Amino acid sequence: MPRRQFLFRLLPLAGLVLCLQGCTLARAGYVYYRDPAALPRVSATVPIYAEAGAEGIAATLEAALPDSLHRVEATHGSRIDHPPTLVVCATTACYGHYAAIPASAAETLKDRRITINGALILKGERDAVKLLTHELSHYYWYAQGILFQPRWFEEGMGVWVSDGGGAEKASVEAAEQAILSGSMIETPLDSGLWAFLTQTPAAPDNNWYQYYRQSGMFVQYLHDTDPEAFSALLAALRQHHSLRTAWSATYADSPETLWARLVDDIRRRQPRG
Ligand SMILES: [Zn+2]
Repeated sequence: MPRRQFLFRLLPLAGLVLCLQGCTLARAGYVYYRDPAALPRVSATVPIYAEAGAEGIAATLEAALPDSLHRVEATHGSRIDHPPTLVVCATTACYGHYAAIPASAAETLKDRRITINGALILKGERDAVKLLTHELSHYYWYAQGILFQPRWFEEGMGVWVSDGGGAEKASVEAAEQAILSGSMIETPLDSGLWAFLTQTPAAPDNNWYQYYRQSGMFVQYLHDTDPEAFSALLAALRQHHSLRTAWSATYADSPETLWARLVDDIRRRQPRG
């Protein structure tokens, strides 16, 4: 196909991608101001608001919050000074009212609040505490103004710190098999609003649980193989607000090279058949 014709065919697709990402942003803009206090406050000590039917989940989250905060602070490298407001919905209607992406399981609106889709927890599809810990990782970065970092990094941090929150339906074993068969994430370093709008990551086999799981495995690999370098990377990110700048200040090798080493490790661990 001639290059020009190819580009014209690509344009509507690019427009759609821009719209989808941009629409999410626009929705985030207006749900940002929806007041959680329209729901009953269910804790005297922390700002947790719960829809009727989600009080049990809210109590679980309130009990878990100190440990989850500590876990994020210890792994990410500094304190969260102002814990977030939590909104816990029991129904998809409530969640759709407060969340920018109504189909998601939980989301963090910058330093404003964390919203939990309790309908999925009540159905047994998601783990409340893991979701909270995952979102606290996003909250940690967003509250410092560190937004729009590469998706594999943001989600990988969340999955890693929460022991698999967000990747519930893709086991490590399934991810290893997918990786060995060539279905794997990419690990670009582009960040910022333009990258967010134009570079939608591709999920291996179109499976977002796989994307989250593999991202978590990569972050864990970075941490476990060189904890000092990993801490230095996070410190540099806090300083520069760009993962690319932080990366080049920390690692001699590219993310692709380190990812290839992880794949080699997985390959070597496979039983010989
Ligand atoms: Zn996430």
